[in-house]
Amino acid sequence: MDIHEYQAKEILGRFGVPTPCGGLAWSPEQVAYQVRQIKEGPFVVKAQVHSGGRGEAGGVKVCKTDEEAHLYAKNLFGMELRTKQTGARGKDVYRVWVEEATDIAKEMYLGFVLDRKSERIMIVASKEGGVEIEQLAEEQPDTLIRMVIDPAVGLVDYQARELAFALGLSGPQIGQMITVLKACHSAYSELDATMVEINPLVITGAGDLLALDAKMSFDKNALYRRPEILALRDSSQEDPREAVASDNGLAYVGLNGDIGCIINGAGLAMATMDMIKLSGGEPANFLDIGGGASPDRVCQAFRTVLSDQNVSVILVNIFAGINRCDWIAEGIVQAYEQLDLKIPVVARLSGTNENEGRNILRMSGLEIKTAETLAEAAELAVAVRTIA
Ligand code: GDP
Ligand code: MN
Repeated sequence: MDIHEYQAKEILGRFGVPTPCGGLAWSPEQVAYQVRQIKEGPFVVKAQVHSGGRGEAGGVKVCKTDEEAHLYAKNLFGMELRTKQTGARGKDVYRVWVEEATDIAKEMYLGFVLDRKSERIMIVASKEGGVEIEQLAEEQPDTLIRMVIDPAVGLVDYQARELAFALGLSGPQIGQMITVLKACHSAYSELDATMVEINPLVITGAGDLLALDAKMSFDKNALYRRPEILALRDSSQEDPREAVASDNGLAYVGLNGDIGCIINGAGLAMATMDMIKLSGGEPANFLDIGGGASPDRVCQAFRTVLSDQNVSVILVNIFAGINRCDWIAEGIVQAYEQLDLKIPVVARLSGTNENEGRNILRMSGLEIKTAETLAEAAELAVAVRTIA
């Protein structure tokens, strides 16, 4: 789960990371109020959306006067901000952060991520900040410094110092960097984060370190024991397709293709996506109905997949163990009756009660295309899709 920049700054600030003074606004009038609290300009007005790349997309502006800040904020509220990371869908701006502008001498990059290979928290840092990490990795890979933290001892001083030196810091900046690193590491491990990113971490004109931007993501599976983090959830920033699915207890991930997938089990879902790609298609989603799915649940899965306008065919691929193919078939028939289906459906039902399931589909008189194998089903789905 992602949170907003201002929330991440507040959390990291509590752990000891220095951040600029500022305040949150829910309207242009509140922006004007927050600007007055800061008193002296210039100010930075920042759209709060769950995405980086806001600066380039026009969502961050340094404003010299109250009027400029107010005018800019008027434009920002209600806007759908499209960044490199959001893609065409964009994210709506409902909250705006206002802070005192900083005199920047240098922008650096600092990130804490989970490195699955070493099974440890890894620090990634660079002298060159401000641009996205993906771009850094591509264009200036030599500037990236990576450091793995041993969970038995945590982040130790000499490691933090080594990193500070590698970044070219000197004098009091070394101690400040150690503080920043330890604070990020504590926040990361104590709050079940999966990512902490400060980009840019700047050296101010006066020579001090300051976090100008902050991003944190948290492990969904740990939210049950982090109610204070769960309270920061902003569902307006989530993919609406995924939000509806999670409310219905379905595991759903929205993708960019046009083949809607209803599958049981994550492994089979991934195999199906590979097969679709191999057949020359693109999946629109990844939907896992889980085990023992009732006809109602299957029908709900159809409703979720159909809420994506890009879907031009639905592929149902079930390898039933705990599931029952007859229930799945009943769910498909129910979806036809209730949802006014206008696109083709390809079904591959295999396993428990498969004969009963196929019979139900056959007897329904509906034009459901059936396949015996996964490869066949994927090819069929690619062949029959109705491309607009
Ligand atoms: P992002 O584009 O979503 O990552 O948003 P950031 O918060 O990182 O802001 C983008 C860029 O705006 C930064 O890399 C800075 O160059 C610039 N910026 C942000 N805050 C300030 C500030 O206080 N002063 C100045 N001069 N530039 C700023
Ligand atoms: Mn940034």
